[in-house]
This record gives sequence, structure tokens and C-alpha cells, in this order.
Amino acid sequence: MSSRVNDREQSATAREVSAGRGMLVVVSSPSGGGKGTLIRRALKIVPNLGYSVSFTTRTPREGEINGRDYYFVSLDEFNQMIASDNFLEWAVVHGNLYGTSHVAIERELNEGHDIILEIDVQGATSVRRLVSDAVSIFILPPSFEILRDRLTGRGSERPDDLALRLRNSRSEVEQYREFQYLIINDDAERAAALLASIIYAERARRERQEEVARSVLATFKQEADGEEAPPGQRDSTVNG
Ligand code: 5GP
Repeated sequence: MSSRVNDREQSATAREVSAGRGMLVVVSSPSGGGKGTLIRRALKIVPNLGYSVSFTTRTPREGEINGRDYYFVSLDEFNQMIASDNFLEWAVVHGNLYGTSHVAIERELNEGHDIILEIDVQGATSVRRLVSDAVSIFILPPSFEILRDRLTGRGSERPDDLALRLRNSRSEVEQYREFQYLIINDDAERAAALLASIIYAERARRERQEEVARSVLATFKQEADGEEAPPGQRDSTVNG
């Protein structure tokens, strides 16, 4: 099922994606950086937050479920999806293809749901270009040694895959500067709380609430129309 392709290719559809009412949250880290655990925790903490399941040509790991962790597809199927313009972005990561379908994303955003994309640094660059108000967060492990121990300890990669992921991590961490937020993943509980806080804070941004603010302000306008104060009794009269 998995296929090896030249590493570090990248593509994104030229289409601008309307962010609708929902918010896109892009989370990246090197492999073993712990973003999966943090995202799972954040999804439990933050209401009305969805997760985008990616497509990949990678072979499923033990315990991974098709449709929950990824949609596991063949190289032919993936290429077909590229040809049919199904992806918001796709990239070759550690020798396999990974992509985010834009159909589900647009539907969720239009329904006002916020969505987390757990994608690599190339995908994050593409999404930032296409969705100007996407929120981008980089998860950094406390050190290379800790990253290596985590990756080795989880035992899910063959030795050559493991070596490739560690090698790639050196250039991936350099990309942290391209992201708006940085979380050092030294303690999973603290880091997950921080991730949730960032999402809450971003939801509270004035620019994201213009529509609701306008409808609240409209109620003030209606009141004022119905309860016109007589001249001379208005609070805001300025006396020279
Ligand atoms: P893994 O094989 O460990 O599940 O994932 C390898 C890398 O691919 C991770 O950095 C992960 O975030 C990234 N990835 C997963 N899905 C996508 C996707 O849809 N697009 C891109 N660009 N990267 C993805």
C-alpha cells in the first residue's frame, strides 16, 4: 500500500479557500514531537472543534484505523485525487504522500466549525498561503534527544524510516519561525492546555466576531429608535 516517492515535494491547489465562519488551526511538529497527543487532548477540552482526517499512501501502523487516523489509499488513488483537484494541499513527507481534502474542510468551515489540521511544515506553508486567517502553531520537543527517545520508544517505524524522520526533524524545527505560536512540549498536560488556550483566544479575536458584534449592536440601534430621549436629556450631549 505504501509507496516511496522523492522526499520534500509539495503542492497546493491554486484555489483560494474561503474560511467561512469557522477557523482553521494548523498544527505542525517534527515526527515524534507529540502533536497527536496534544491534539487529542485539546479536542476533549475545546467544544465545537473538529479534526481533519488526512489521506496518505503510508502503510497503516498497528492500531491505526482507516477513516479515523487516516484514509489509507494507494498511490494510484492518491494520484487520482490530485488529478481531480481534491486536495487543499498535499506533500511528500518522509517518503510517503499525505494530503488534506478540501471538500470536508469547506463544509465544516461553512457550518461554523473550527478545524485542526495536523500537517507537516510544507502543508502548513501551503495552507497559510491559501487561507489568510488560518492560525498556525508549531510544537517543539524540548530537545533532539527527547525527540529521538520518543520516536525510538514508540517503536512504530522501521530503522530506516526512523533515521529519515530524525534527519528531517533537523530542518523541520528550523521552520518554527513561520508559525504564529510556539508550544514547547515538555509536559503534555500543560502543552495541551496551552493549545486549547490559543484556540479560545483566537476565537475571541474581534475580527472573528464582527458578524456577531454587528447583530448585538443592531439591538442597541432598535432600542434607541424606539426610546428617543427628548432633546437636552441625551447622555452624550457635549456642552461647549
Ligand atoms: P505520520 O506518518 O507520522 O502519521 O505523519 C508524518 C507527517 O505527515 C507528520 O508531520 C504529519 O503531520 C504529516 N501529515 C499528516 N497528514 C498530512 C496532510 O494531510 N498533509 C501534509 N502536508 N502533511 C500531513
